Amino acid sequence: MSDARQLARTYLEQQRLLGTDAVELAATQLTPVAGPVNPKPEAIPENPSGVTPGAALPGLPPPGITYDPPSGDLFSTDPVQRATSLEAIAQLVSECTKCRLCEQRRHTVPGEGPGNARLVVVGEGPGRVEDETGRPFVGQAGELLTKILSAIDLQRQQVFICNIVKCRPPENRVPQYDEIAACVPYLYRQLDLLQPKVILAMGGTAAQTLLNTKQSLGALRNQVHTFRGRPVIVTYHPAALLRNPNWKRPTWDDVRIARRLLDA
Ligand code: URA
Ligand code: SF4
Repeated sequence: MSDARQLARTYLEQQRLLGTDAVELAATQLTPVAGPVNPKPEAIPENPSGVTPGAALPGLPPPGITYDPPSGDLFSTDPVQRATSLEAIAQLVSECTKCRLCEQRRHTVPGEGPGNARLVVVGEGPGRVEDETGRPFVGQAGELLTKILSAIDLQRQQVFICNIVKCRPPENRVPQYDEIAACVPYLYRQLDLLQPKVILAMGGTAAQTLLNTKQSLGALRNQVHTFRGRPVIVTYHPAALLRNPNWKRPTWDDVRIARRLLDA
């Protein structure tokens, strides 16, 4: 591949990992820059009032978006809503043909981890190795995720790790809107059953889906958002970090916020 094509590919991948309206930020990261990279968005004040409802710990970033999609009721006939265990959800996922991503998958990747996990990590969708094994985050990005977790004293086995879509998009393309809409009820139900203390959304797709927003990842970082009453911290996707080590430091900052919320 020519340098120009490689550059364009890298650019597009970064753009999607950051969310669609992050074009300028992604573009500035392509060329090495002297001085500080990834400046904090000015729109986010440093907790101006000192009062942070929903995030009452001193020193935490201010509250952000609250998203509270309705849960299925007691009388729902939808098998996803009626599933009472993570295993039951995984079983439904394994048989699922609700979107076109079922056509090329080798394995579904429902997610894995203990039912009593206090932290849930949400990525975008399975990649090649995940599709081959049926397990989330086991490729290169997964190795980095394991390191990120150990930086906040968590072993991978203590965390529930999953994705927005449970089947691999061809060529790892970004999941399309209708695919996300078809798949996200599984994630919602997983979160209902897990009731984690903190949710860590990694990358633009996870953040934008869980918060029902089109805001870029850069704009969503450094706030304590809420999904169905549970705090959501937004950070870079590990695959983005592999390409752009400049984002490691801010990622470490983000996961430390998650750690503080876990300890609270
Ligand atoms: N990237 C993701 O978003 N999820 C995985 O499971 C692996 C890589
Ligand atoms: Fe079903 Fe989700 Fe797979 Fe689509 S991606 S087929 S909705 S499990």
